[in-house]
Amino acid sequence: MSIAENIAQIRERIGGAAHRAGRDPETVTLMAVSKTFPAEAIRDAYDAGIRVFGENRVQEFAGKAENLRGLTDARWHMIGHLQTNKAAKAAELFQAIDSVDSLKLAEKLNDGARSHSKKLAVFIEINVGGETAKSGVLASSPELENILTSAARLEFLEIRGLMTIPPYTEDPQSARPHFCKLRKLRDEIAARNLPAVSMATLSMGMSHDFEVAIEEGSTCVRVGTAIFGARAKP
Ligand SMILES: *Cc1c(COP(=O)(O)O)cnc(C)c1O
Repeated sequence: MSIAENIAQIRERIGGAAHRAGRDPETVTLMAVSKTFPAEAIRDAYDAGIRVFGENRVQEFAGKAENLRGLTDARWHMIGHLQTNKAAKAAELFQAIDSVDSLKLAEKLNDGARSHSKKLAVFIEINVGGETAKSGVLASSPELENILTSAARLEFLEIRGLMTIPPYTEDPQSARPHFCKLRKLRDEIAARNLPAVSMATLSMGMSHDFEVAIEEGSTCVRVGTAIFGARAKP
């Protein structure tokens, strides 16, 4: 199937999941995760109506960005783990950083955004499964509090919500408790009405589990394989 056909099918499944949960499908953004795929594949997805893209390596995207300048209303999200020494470049290339997991990284991104006179949307990545090898901040970590309460003074960043990658399992139903946990955490933070902290976005769900994520309240699903096909192993 073509990229456009894959996207049409995913949109239908998003509609079905939203319907089951009594939600409006318009409240769910389909992000196309284009890492490892060339600019031509991104253009195909753009032509099929996608406007939000996810990439996970700064250098890789820097190489493609030149070729994609014409897509002026596309939004580029950095969804992979980001080292502080790449923060300045990421702030230049992307409109949003979905993987913020420390105040130090937020500060570096703020510096980068300032030097390009732009506002950068950021999402806090939560390690819901508590896996030691995974990036993201633990929900119980003081670092989460640090990020939330110091956000207001980073004037070039806008905190927009939470992102997570649950522990991988074959069965998408096993991810449900993790999605549920992230939604509860989002609701708790939102209820505090912290200055300059929006919790409007709940980014969760990938190719194999996006329907379950939508049933649990996801507002952004990040889909790679189901749109572009299997990625080559690096
Ligand atoms: C690669 C990636 C995805 C997409 O994964 P698929 O299983 O190919 O849909 C989503 N989110 C993040 C953070 C990723 O790195």
